[in-house]
Amino acid sequence: MKYYIRTFGCQMNVNDSEKMAGILKTLGYQPAEDWKEADVILVNTCSVREKPDQKVLSALGEFKKIKKEKPNAVIGVCGCLAQRAGYEILQKAPFIDMVFGTTNIHHLPKLLEEAKSGNKAVEILEEIDENENLLDQFPTVRENKYTAFVTVIRGCDKKCTYCIVPTTRGKERSRRIGDILREIQFLVEDGVKEIHLIGQNVTAYGKDLGDVNFWELLEAVAQVEGVKRIRFTTGHPRDLDEDTIKVMADLPQVCEALHLPIQAGSDRILQAMDRGYTQKEYLYKIELLKKYIPDIALSTDIIVGFPGETYQDYLETVKVIKEVEYDQVFAFKYSPRPGTPAADLPMTENPETLSKWLNDLINIQKDITFKKNLQYEEKTVEVLIEEINEEGKLTGRTRTNKLVHVEGSPEYVGQIVDVKIEKVNRFSLEGKINGGI
Ligand code: SAM
Ligand code: SF4
Repeated sequence: MKYYIRTFGCQMNVNDSEKMAGILKTLGYQPAEDWKEADVILVNTCSVREKPDQKVLSALGEFKKIKKEKPNAVIGVCGCLAQRAGYEILQKAPFIDMVFGTTNIHHLPKLLEEAKSGNKAVEILEEIDENENLLDQFPTVRENKYTAFVTVIRGCDKKCTYCIVPTTRGKERSRRIGDILREIQFLVEDGVKEIHLIGQNVTAYGKDLGDVNFWELLEAVAQVEGVKRIRFTTGHPRDLDEDTIKVMADLPQVCEALHLPIQAGSDRILQAMDRGYTQKEYLYKIELLKKYIPDIALSTDIIVGFPGETYQDYLETVKVIKEVEYDQVFAFKYSPRPGTPAADLPMTENPETLSKWLNDLINIQKDITFKKNLQYEEKTVEVLIEEINEEGKLTGRTRTNKLVHVEGSPEYVGQIVDVKIEKVNRFSLEGKINGGI
């Protein structure tokens, strides 16, 4: 019996899919190379913008064909779109056998059993399942052997007016620190070197528990023997304080990289988005980060065309991008999400103008990214070799999250090595191994 999982969206979804693969493995299923071979197909969905919604429906249209060859194959839909609009999807795609939301993934064995017996297995909970942490007891099946996601907090208590996540993922729930550390211990024993702590707002970790905060979590993770690198995503600018930045700087395991979404540069738009900071306050945090961690690589998310955004507002975003000099920017056009406070606000600009703004911004950033990469020329950097790519080259990442290709023997895979950078490309670096193993 084989399974195939198609994942859309963020790292939280990737980690949920790894857990679902773990559950299916426990039930005796093997991964299928191709969906056509699968007995169970799961589509883990995203709802953050409209495009992923559409992609899900077209993927389902493709997977439907499996029913001709394998009438008993089970097709399931889960994740944020299923949580928000599971019943609508069932109406649009009645061939689906199983639908479940974001907090009851641990019910997959029961739901699968029901679907296999020919019934529609549908479980979309209005309230958060109080036993959702049972999911954490399942092993993960990971593609990357040396770096692993660990969910530390679920949900989001912020109320950004454009965002569907608080609806699809519920309020903030931090995992108990002991459970997190046990999972990390297990991952390290399994060969993992780099731990990537994830959550919609990791910097809010512990607020709901009351007896621990995010930087204490960082310190505890760094004490687990064998953890060589720590990353975390996503930090919210509002919750990132100087104490946390100091701890990031002091702990040798914490990588010099941070994704800190600004969303927009204009104070008027930031307020309309209810982000809880001004441009000046955001830039102050960036200043602190650069002061304590001079080599830090920064990345951000940008929304172009939030309702009411004028060209002057947009230019404020461009100004911030030029001033901060991010290593990477993830920019998208605003997409109205049903049920969010901003959904009914009228769009101020036409789609063509917004596309132009977005393209211009992406082009400005491309040059900045290349300029940042050029700083690596002739430098020696630490790289965790993760795999051998299709061209037979060793491939890994620097602590600053830059992709590096090097020549070398397969024994280096899984090792942290020093690499002298000899060539800088727009999206990757190339070099020679200088030491390590
Ligand atoms: N919690 C993180 C934060 O506050 O920055 C981000 C999590 S959110 C799921 C990921 C990204 O999706 C956001 O940073 C934002 O840029 C983007 N996003 C969310 N809602 C959006 C919308 N309605 N239209 C366009 N982009 C959106
Ligand atoms: Fe969405 Fe805002 Fe929460 Fe991030 S902080 S998940 S953008 S509501």
